[in-house]
Amino acid sequence: MQEKASAMKKRWFVAGFALALLAAGAAAVRFSAPVQAALASRMIDRHMGENRDRLMTDDALRVVICGSGSPLPDPNAAESCVAVIAGGRIILSDVGSGSMRNLVSWPLPIGRVGDVLLTHFHSDHIADLPIANMQSWVDGRSAPLRVWGGPGVEAVVDGYNLAFAQDSSYRSGHHGEVLMPMRLAAMEARLVARADGAPLSGLEQAVIVDDGALKITAFAVEHPPVSPAYGYRIDYRGRSVTISGDTHATASVAEAAAGSDVLIHEAIDAPMVAELAEAAQRHGRDRLAKVLDDIQTYHATPADAREAGVAAGVRLVILTHLVPPIPPALGDTLRLRGLATRDPELRVARDGMVIELPIGSSDVHVGAVRR
Ligand SMILES: [Zn+2]
Ligand SMILES: [Zn+2]
Repeated sequence: MQEKASAMKKRWFVAGFALALLAAGAAAVRFSAPVQAALASRMIDRHMGENRDRLMTDDALRVVICGSGSPLPDPNAAESCVAVIAGGRIILSDVGSGSMRNLVSWPLPIGRVGDVLLTHFHSDHIADLPIANMQSWVDGRSAPLRVWGGPGVEAVVDGYNLAFAQDSSYRSGHHGEVLMPMRLAAMEARLVARADGAPLSGLEQAVIVDDGALKITAFAVEHPPVSPAYGYRIDYRGRSVTISGDTHATASVAEAAAGSDVLIHEAIDAPMVAELAEAAQRHGRDRLAKVLDDIQTYHATPADAREAGVAAGVRLVILTHLVPPIPPALGDTLRLRGLATRDPELRVARDGMVIELPIGSSDVHVGAVRR
């Protein structure tokens, strides 16, 4: 009995001592300037020494989700963005608001961003375009940023170039023409269209890059009244990913994705959006109720996305452009309810998700940008 009491006493003593140490540590961080400075130095050193080439190695096609959200504000997700890493290049498909903040905070050499594939010109897909241009320029991009898109891409690129011309001249003037040459400051528009200049439509596709190893194919999707509206398929050394862009259910996605390893497909949870619309109406928020009603017609549901993945024979479907925003702990389950999540595997995107497709293999690995 006495032994038990003394063991108990010892445990209390150890716990008390650990608590006192923790409190002393917290007080040192809160009140001691030298401790704060030492911690900051350590963080700076770790940040600067981070290996930014870990995801760049040429043994896989990699996909990084840089924005899984939509225009509805979501503290957990930036707006639309998918980064595809192949052959030492970073290709961005859309750059919605917040996506560049994600990308520059992750260990990635942003100067290797050479191409942006715009699916369409809704704000949640193009808002960070000038930031992608500026950040990749600062990080040493070696050619002007190529911005691919349907008819109208010239206006988007020209408009942003004009709006940011002064910013570029300040930066080049400040850091010098050698470090930040003005010839690399402005973006170049690359039109993706039919031979007659009209947007791709129906099941039309256009190969826009093909260097033997890397092939990028644009295809039409349906996001009415938005036109042009495209998706993109990227093939690299036998591995492949297809990105749907914004679309309601349409056969062109499965057609373009046939034989791809991964399909990244937009998905709106229609019942939840309908419930939101009803609640908005109930509370007198008529404008919001109308918007929430309208958006249901030009997006696909998780079931539509899954169906496209089954028809295309892909191994993995990733749901993205997540509407409405719900914290992942609850949202992932809700979005997948009632759906088979095998054959193909069905997962919900998250900012920072990395999908790795090793070359010479049929493996599909899903991880995170920070391990
Ligand atoms: Zn969108
Ligand atoms: Zn859209």
